[in-house]
Amino acid sequence: MVQNFNAILKSKTQLTETIFEFKYSVPENFTFIPGEFVSIKVGGNVRRSYTILEVQDGLMTLIIDVCPGGAGSLYFQNLKVNDESSILGPLGLFRCQETNFDKVFIATGTGIVPFVPMIKDLKQKGFGMANNCITVYFGARFFKDDIAYKYLKNLDKEDFIQYITCLTREESNEREYKKGRVSQIVPSEDHDWLNTEFYLCGNREMIEEMQMILRGKGAEKIYFEKY
Ligand SMILES: Cc1cc2nc3c(=O)[nH]c(=O)nc-3n(C[C@H](O)[C@H](O)[C@H](O)COP(=O)(O)OP(=O)(O)OC[C@H]3O[C@@H](n4cnc5c(N)ncnc54)[C@H](O)[C@@H]3O)c2cc1C
Repeated sequence: MVQNFNAILKSKTQLTETIFEFKYSVPENFTFIPGEFVSIKVGGNVRRSYTILEVQDGLMTLIIDVCPGGAGSLYFQNLKVNDESSILGPLGLFRCQETNFDKVFIATGTGIVPFVPMIKDLKQKGFGMANNCITVYFGARFFKDDIAYKYLKNLDKEDFIQYITCLTREESNEREYKKGRVSQIVPSEDHDWLNTEFYLCGNREMIEEMQMILRGKGAEKIYFEKY
């Protein structure tokens, strides 16, 4: 059920140069379906949308990049612990399909956020038992920008989940990664393109480019959320 409430910010943690993790206290009955977002007042009647990473023990976690520099970025850059925000949600129709098809998740930046609860949910529901698998491609410039690893590293230990970091500018070999953009790496990988679901989330350009590439490979089951 969509709710309209004021929430207190309980913690703000810096993850990268421009990306922060925010934890808000939310009403006890506040729940969400993986893929849903909240709309937050960032000044006057201006609102911005932010995908829900997690709701646990009365706290809702959001991951926000302040790099774009508009009203939303400024609001979250300045927001302090114990400040209050006006929140509307959960909203949205971006969903993980309840099927047994292999699933490929492709994200850049905070586009990884909807995929974290989706993958946790799939795992809880026994996905992987039917010999099906999940592949995550996360695109960034350097290891230090890889926010996805923080939230998915434990899940990666599951046999049916493969996590591939695609880095464009990294030179070190701190852990395994593939060099290049997701749009270069994904099409060179081996997938059953027709019988796999592809989920895309991130900036508009990446999604439009990836959609064209995937369709060119024969993929038909493509689901996306443009930020
Ligand atoms: C359904 C949905 C869910 C979203 N979830 C998240 C989330 O979980 N975390 C998050 O950080 N953002 C998320 N966004 C994006 C967010 O709503 C804002 O658009 C973003 O924070 C920028 O707002 P702004 O007011 O700072 O910049 P704006 O005033 O909106 O834009 C400022 C400038 O930056 C450009 N720009 C806007 N967004 C981006 C971007 N992502 N990358 C590069 N350039 C950009 C604009 O074209 C413009 O030139 C989501 C968007 C949607 C639609």
